[in-house]
Amino acid sequence: MKNEFSKMDAGLLHLANKKVLLKLINQKGQISRSELSKATKLTPPTITRIVDELVYKDNLAEYIGTGSSNGGRPSMIVKFKNEGNYIIGIDLGATYIRGGLVDLNAKFVYEIQVPTEIEKGFSSIIEKVANVIQKLKSRQELNSKVWGVGIGVAGLVDSKTGMIESSPDFGWSKIDLRKELEDRLGLPFFYDNSTRLMALGELKLGAKQNLKNFAVINLGYGIASGLVIEGNLVKGHVGFAGEFGHISVDTESSVKCKCGMYGCLEALASGHRIAALGKHALTNHNSQILNELCNGNPNLITAELVAKAAQMGDKSCLKIYNEVIEYLCKGIGIIANLLNPEIVYLGGGISLNEQFLFDLVQAKKSKYLLYTNTDMPIVPSTFGEQATIIGAVSLVLEKIMNLELLVEE
Ligand SMILES: [Zn+2]
Repeated sequence: MKNEFSKMDAGLLHLANKKVLLKLINQKGQISRSELSKATKLTPPTITRIVDELVYKDNLAEYIGTGSSNGGRPSMIVKFKNEGNYIIGIDLGATYIRGGLVDLNAKFVYEIQVPTEIEKGFSSIIEKVANVIQKLKSRQELNSKVWGVGIGVAGLVDSKTGMIESSPDFGWSKIDLRKELEDRLGLPFFYDNSTRLMALGELKLGAKQNLKNFAVINLGYGIASGLVIEGNLVKGHVGFAGEFGHISVDTESSVKCKCGMYGCLEALASGHRIAALGKHALTNHNSQILNELCNGNPNLITAELVAKAAQMGDKSCLKIYNEVIEYLCKGIGIIANLLNPEIVYLGGGISLNEQFLFDLVQAKKSKYLLYTNTDMPIVPSTFGEQATIIGAVSLVLEKIMNLELLVEE
């Protein structure tokens, strides 16, 4: 019995040491074996054994020669091997399916975007996602490896099981996407909510990676948030934390949200709502500039078009944005006063390329922020329209760095 335990302990210890070494090699980009030994207090033979494994078996590192000797024997230098190692990130949105083939430094090698055409139904969407993945996979060079696929989906996603519990955008409930795709493509799949992934991407690969407390707000045709508290991505009791779109910002409101409640932020301030208000302004003949921009066709009115009209001086459209941003700031105030984040990032389709929106936020935010939070910056997310792909990639990268995707011995 005792032998069995000590064997298991040795295996666990080996794995723990290997993770530490891989992380160090990744952080430094390249480092000598003697520096690894100094940094970890592991003996040179242990370092050699583990690094050899990372180089020759796992293909996650490579030797690139020897460094200066400093008197003793020159030490071998090992480099993190991002080339030839890939991850596929997918942003499964209601309007577009976006995909990227990236290396382990999150550098894009190839990117695809296709319309989702949600009206064509479930099997058509699965077919499209599979095609996008196949196409991305076909761009990898010979002898390289795709470690896995990360997918971000709008809706309530159980990150443990990969089950989409419910996605109002797609009209899905209890969908096992992983099963649908994994069998077909023979790659490991990982899922999470698209906004939570935006926050994960910001945490792991964003412009300010040392931030421990921040929020990412996704302004699209829905509204959601990803929250990072004390360096951890918040998941909540059963994994559905961050449903920022469904906090009430107007208790008197008669606008019903798709969740069934009234006065939700999403019902009052989403891209969907902005477009609906724009259409309303058009039919009431209140909006000459918008009328010109959409050639009198209400079906062409989007939140972006309303923003454009507002910036061109259309009074009704400016009123719409003033109202919507007021609600948004009220929502941001709730997050900020509750969690005291260092930064709030705004991302998603509605926020992209809209300095105008950030100016409105800037003008209105102080009304809803405690004095302790008034200096809190509200800025565009680091990765723009690639934010969910980057987040999906970070999800797989985390698994690689935790040695969860290595082939069993
Ligand atoms: Zn709601």
